[in-house]
Amino acid sequence: MSFNYFVKSKNSIEKPFVLLTFDDGPDRNTTPIILDVLKDFNVTAIFFVIGIKAKKEQHLIKRIIEEGHFIGNHTASHPPLFALLSAAKVEKEINELTAFFTTLEMESNLFRPPIGYTNPIISRVVNKLNLNLIGWNKRSYDTVIRNPKVLSNRLVSLSKPGSIILLHDNLKQTALALKPFLELSSQKGITFANKEQINLYLNEKNM
Ligand SMILES: [Zn+2]
Repeated sequence: MSFNYFVKSKNSIEKPFVLLTFDDGPDRNTTPIILDVLKDFNVTAIFFVIGIKAKKEQHLIKRIIEEGHFIGNHTASHPPLFALLSAAKVEKEINELTAFFTTLEMESNLFRPPIGYTNPIISRVVNKLNLNLIGWNKRSYDTVIRNPKVLSNRLVSLSKPGSIILLHDNLKQTALALKPFLELSSQKGITFANKEQINLYLNEKNM
């Protein structure tokens, strides 16, 4: 099995803005902090949520939508060996969360696989379900950088026009780094994608 099999995905943009993406939430402790900061700085993001967490924190799913952000599917249970699952199991993981979205009267065709790996099986399911696969081109390493100051400085250096940054809204350091990051960004004139720009980008044909 090849983890490098190429699947058409959005993981690069030739755009004058930075796009923030948050995986692995929602989390009752950290996601509200992140949403507060995003609101204060008027920044729009995409949240790739996990089904079991979304079911527990429905109010946060609603809040993410109400505050103008985008929701994506990051599978029902985030299996650590997602890339080794059968097509049927991959499909089940995705459909289960899609079905939950429907109960909240929302829908999303945005998908990011756990760990970010794709393979021929996943790509076949993605095509079958007509999902919009969203990657990234900048890793924040917020899972390993625990110091919010170090993390916020790193985020500033990653924020170039066209950066799609991978973050995790279930991490304390990420929640604490976001405000200093956005403060420094506004001093440096870094521009983040607004809702309309994200919408247009998501509707572009994959490269
Ligand atoms: Zn994940």
